[in-house]
Amino acid sequence: MRIAIFSTKPYDTAFLEQANLAHGHELVFFDARLGPKTTPLAQGCDGVCIFVNDCVDAAVAAALARAGVRLIALRCAGFNNVDLAAASAHGLTVVRVPAYSPHAVAEHTLALILSLNRRIHRAYARVREGNFTLDGLMGFDLVGRTVGVIGTGRIGAVVVRLLRGFDCRVLAYDVAPNPECVALGADYVSLGDLLRQSDIVTLHCPLAPETYHLIGQDALASMKPGVMLINTSRGALLDAAAAIEALKSGQLGALGLDVYEEEADMFFEDLSNRVLQDDIFARLLTFPNVLITGHQAFFTREALTAIAETTLANISAFARGADLPNALARPA
Ligand code: NAD
Repeated sequence: MRIAIFSTKPYDTAFLEQANLAHGHELVFFDARLGPKTTPLAQGCDGVCIFVNDCVDAAVAAALARAGVRLIALRCAGFNNVDLAAASAHGLTVVRVPAYSPHAVAEHTLALILSLNRRIHRAYARVREGNFTLDGLMGFDLVGRTVGVIGTGRIGAVVVRLLRGFDCRVLAYDVAPNPECVALGADYVSLGDLLRQSDIVTLHCPLAPETYHLIGQDALASMKPGVMLINTSRGALLDAAAAIEALKSGQLGALGLDVYEEEADMFFEDLSNRVLQDDIFARLLTFPNVLITGHQAFFTREALTAIAETTLANISAFARGADLPNALARPA
């Protein structure tokens, strides 16, 4: 199969080419994001391989189908950026990598919690300047603290396990409770109770119409004053403008983000020579108690290896006409 790989970074090329040694497909790499203007790049390809900020809306799905594309292979787990119904209607099959390393994202979540709590991001800069004072760096013991985990699937369950290792009390909320988390000692409660009782809240549910701005003005107001909020899932789970107001009032005590609703035009690019155009993001960067990473929670060697191997296996299974356990959509 000839596959157009969009949003390619050097690490994508390296890991996908390595995994492709066992499959022998023709991989054509493009830096560009897939969107309405870039679909012509897929002309003559059997499939496209895309990542979190590539967009397949109804128009792009139609254009891909016209270009001869039959397969969309997501090299990620989340699929909120693909209109599955439109893809299906245009005769496209969509596959993804449902699980590659839940540990990568879960461990990054803990890194954000620990860094924010102990102000590591500030201490690092301070010590480099020769400032060894401790004012403003005081944290709290995690032991015995209540942490609310929203979404207890693959990643959320690992987060629960890690938090239990710190002897935290874990409250969980999920539309489908996970027995593994109950066995780990998490207590499932309503979303309202979780928000009211938690010292730290961390988001691990997918972005869908029903979870859009799940954490907005009302949810923030219902949380414990000074609560820490972590989002390593998808940006639009959080209303960032509401978070800014909650940070200004002190209601939100710390905010750790690996994802941002409008990240598509910024993340994964070096914009350090340009003026930041997103005023909400720029305001978030001014808070001492906000720590933002640029969608790197997945970024471990193990995860990239698993992503590449599963993506190539998905493509080969499609080429053979074999079963597609990782299919999200099939031709209507
Ligand atoms: P998963 O499908 O295994 O788990 C998601 C859980 O959310 C499920 O248990 C599901 O029942 C629950 N859920 C669904 N709707 C819900 C709702 N309305 N309220 C509460 N819970 C709900 O997915 P996962 O592998 O654990 O990944 C979780 C999310 O993490 C993905 O959707 C993706 O957006 C994000 N992610 C981020 C990165 C990163 O690098 N930052 C990497 C991978 C995944």
